Amino acid sequence: MKETICTIPINDIFMEKSGCPFCRMYDMLETQYATFITGSAMMDPETRVSTNKKGFCKKHFEKITEVGKRLPNALILQTHLQYILDNYFPKNTHSRPDKKKLLALDEMLHTCYICDRIQNDVEHFLRTVFKEWETNPEFRKLYQEQEFICLEHYQQITTISLKGVPSKHLADFHKDTADLAKKQLELLIADTTHFCNMFDYRNRDADWGNSRDAIERDLRFLAGIPLPEENKTEE
Ligand SMILES: [Zn+2]
Ligand SMILES: [Zn+2]
Repeated sequence: MKETICTIPINDIFMEKSGCPFCRMYDMLETQYATFITGSAMMDPETRVSTNKKGFCKKHFEKITEVGKRLPNALILQTHLQYILDNYFPKNTHSRPDKKKLLALDEMLHTCYICDRIQNDVEHFLRTVFKEWETNPEFRKLYQEQEFICLEHYQQITTISLKGVPSKHLADFHKDTADLAKKQLELLIADTTHFCNMFDYRNRDADWGNSRDAIERDLRFLAGIPLPEENKTEE
């Protein structure tokens, strides 16, 4: 396992209370890795060998071009493209398709340098979260005061907590985590139902309440897609 290059100020992340704290944690890791790859690691041979081989997923191709300058990105892409040409294409294309190469290409298309690095880091950061939650009452309060935990992170954090949280605390930790996901789910069902009902002519003079952006908030919970105004403030 590679040493992490990232630092995650767990307290700062949980201090902010809008959206899912684990989405904020991932976002910070993604930005740190994209900055690292297109910055100080740009000329590091070991990192380049790795990015050549793995490439990036769609989200992280977008991230490195958003975060990094044009030249570092072009240099990283140039050697990655060359790696693809050398490894996945036959010298003579007038031939039967090479199944092995196609399988290897499929594997490469589903790997990402940044996703892999984050995967390695997450358990490390989660151990810190579990420890803080266990030992620090102030942090536990911050944890409970989060707006919600998104569906994907509810699944992931809860699964990892089976190993990471001592069994005597597991039910308490699960309550804090599941409540944050379940309450949001119930709220979204109510708001989305209200949204649908507003299309009934009998409700034409009724109040939209909080339901106008129900779809956007559904997508944020279900797929981690930021709300439109969150996008704007980042630009
Ligand atoms: Zn999340
Ligand atoms: Zn990725």
